Amino acid sequence: MTIAKALTIAGSDCGGGAGIQADLKSFQERDVFGMSVITVLTAQNTLGVHGVYPQTLEAIGAQIDAIFQDMGTDAVKTGMLFSDEIVHLVVEKLQQYKAKNIVVDPVMIAKGGAPLLQKQAMDTVKSRLLPIATVITPNLPEACEILGLDSINTLEEMKKAAKALRELGPKYVVLKGGHLEGSNEAVDILFDGEEYFYFTAKRIDTIHTHGTGCTFAAAITAELAKGKSVHEAVGTAKQFIQAAIEESLCIGKGIGPTKHSA
Ligand code: PLP
Repeated sequence: MTIAKALTIAGSDCGGGAGIQADLKSFQERDVFGMSVITVLTAQNTLGVHGVYPQTLEAIGAQIDAIFQDMGTDAVKTGMLFSDEIVHLVVEKLQQYKAKNIVVDPVMIAKGGAPLLQKQAMDTVKSRLLPIATVITPNLPEACEILGLDSINTLEEMKKAAKALRELGPKYVVLKGGHLEGSNEAVDILFDGEEYFYFTAKRIDTIHTHGTGCTFAAAITAELAKGKSVHEAVGTAKQFIQAAIEESLCIGKGIGPTKHSA
C-alpha cells in the first residue's frame, strides 16, 4: 500500500495541543503518514509555555538526514524554529534534499504571549526561509511583524499585505484573518501572485483555540502531500479547522486545544 508522507519540523508541545503533536494528529486525521523533526522541546500546558529547550544543531540535522536518506517526504511543514541557527540549518537541509511542497507557518509568539522565535532570527526567516516556501500561513500579527506594519485592520489592508508578503518569495500566501476585529466572519485570503481567493467561515466565540495555527498549516501540508492543489488544500484545511474549533475541548484550566489537536 502506498501512502502520502508528510514531515513536520517544529517544536514539541508536551501538552498535546500545538506544535509537533498537533501536526502529527492532523496528518493522521487526513490519512497521511506523519514524520517529525523536533527543533525545540517546550514545557507547556493550557496555562502557557513554562520552558523552552532548543535541541542541538547536531540533533536537528541528524533527524532531518535520517528522514530524507530513507523515507523521503511528499510535503514538509515548518513550525517553531526558535533561533537564527536553527532557521539556517533547516533551510540548508531542505535545499540539500530538494524538498518539495514546503509549508511555512511563521510561528513567532504563542497566544499566551510567550516568544517562539527569537528577534534576531526574523531577518533569516525573511531572507532565507520565506523564499523557499510553497505556501506561507501567517496570521495578522505575524504578517505585521514580517512587514514592519503597526496593524492590519481591513480586508483591503489584508490584500495589500498578502501582496507584499508574496514579494518576499513564497509561491502562495495564505493570510489568516482570524484576528480581524468587527466582523462575525473569519476570512482568510489566498494570493497566488495574480488573483485573490477568499475562504470565509463563521467566527466562533471560544477561548479554546490553542494550536489552531499549527493544525491549519498541517492540514494544508497533508493535502499537498496527497497531490492536491494549493487552492484545494487551503479549502479543505479551512473546513477541517472550522470543525475542530466548533468541537473544541475543555481540557486543562486555561486556553484549551481544538478537537483535532487533542
Ligand atoms: N507551542 C508550539 C510548540 C507551537 O508550535 C505553537 C504554535 O505554532 C504554539 C505553542 C502556540 O500555540 P497557540 O498560539 O495556538 O496557543
